[in-house]
Amino acid sequence: MLSKLPEVGTTIFTVMSRRARELDALNLGQGYPDYDIDPRLTELVAVAMSAGHNQYAPMEGLPALRERIAAKLHSSYGLHVDPETEVTVTLGATEAIYSAIQAAVGPGEEAIAFDPAYDSYEPAVRLAGGRCVRLPLTQPGFRYDWDRVRAAVNARTRLVLLNSPHNPACTTAAAADLDALAQVIAERDVLVLSDEVYEHVVYDGARHHSVLTHPGLAPRSFTVFSFGKTLHATGLRVGYCVAPPPLTRELRKVHQFNTFSISHPLQHAIAAYLAEQPDCGRALAAFFQSKRDRLRGALARSGFRLPPAQGTYFQLLDFSEFADADDLAFAERLLTEARVATIPLSPFYASPPSLPFLRLCIAKRDDTLDEAAMRLNAFATRLGRTGA
Ligand code: GLN
Repeated sequence: MLSKLPEVGTTIFTVMSRRARELDALNLGQGYPDYDIDPRLTELVAVAMSAGHNQYAPMEGLPALRERIAAKLHSSYGLHVDPETEVTVTLGATEAIYSAIQAAVGPGEEAIAFDPAYDSYEPAVRLAGGRCVRLPLTQPGFRYDWDRVRAAVNARTRLVLLNSPHNPACTTAAAADLDALAQVIAERDVLVLSDEVYEHVVYDGARHHSVLTHPGLAPRSFTVFSFGKTLHATGLRVGYCVAPPPLTRELRKVHQFNTFSISHPLQHAIAAYLAEQPDCGRALAAFFQSKRDRLRGALARSGFRLPPAQGTYFQLLDFSEFADADDLAFAERLLTEARVATIPLSPFYASPPSLPFLRLCIAKRDDTLDEAAMRLNAFATRLGRTGA
């Protein structure tokens, strides 16, 4: 069969998790917690199934959950979102991203993404018949080059894909970035897809700037969130997309034929959980910041440099002290020689530059982080000694 995505293989996340299992390595690659979820959520899932919520949920999402989502957006950002016409429950953020792209981009049209870009963006654009224009974030620090964005926007541009806090760069978009984007697309028929799954994981007292709070962007944005991240349970696969009514209408046309509707008992359980703990997202920043700081502290004398992490549940490791900037090769060495799985950044680039970064997931038990740091320190000492 002729492939529609000829050069797409299995994702680096799946590959690294599989390799970690095979080699019995510590898996700091794929981003998911290794600690238990709140047992109350488990109970509420059981309650929902016992209560008989085991048939199809409404296509757009359980009303009670969409109301909770609207309340959450009000408490986080002071927003007034209509749960009926502006909120759609999706199969994780990935389905929201996919469905929004199918709704927004057509054959011959373009979507702009910033490299390193999350790996599902471009395939979704291509399957919509569009072209994904990849613009690199600039070093140092993975900054936006808005002049370059301005130059890339043309009559075919339909969508700009934004991601903040950014996976895998661990940076956050500044208010000035949102202003710049709004200015670039102001007079044009361009929409925004904003991936904000790490909205609650922003460090050092900083605030998350959601496109939903930006008057120039909100009216033309699909904004995507994830209960997997907020509830420490990536296996839930429940996310949602917030968009103005005309965009939500188009999104739902795709969603209804893509996943149709999302797990009914899980939606009941999450709605009940949010009723009991409406501010559960607030604890995430301090929780993950202490994990970030624990790992940074444990690696402080390793010789690895640790670029600033402003958000997400990842920390980059800069290995330039030890090897050439071939991240795939260095990730393989860490896997086989230190038995720590990481995620290299080059798979997130259309044209990978030579960058000496690997991504480590910090959403792990403290003892997992300590053990990983011990292995990385020992590996660094061996490398330093032999220079090999
Ligand atoms: N979001 C996860 C990460 O960044 C990956 C999820 C997946 O494997 N598709 O690690």
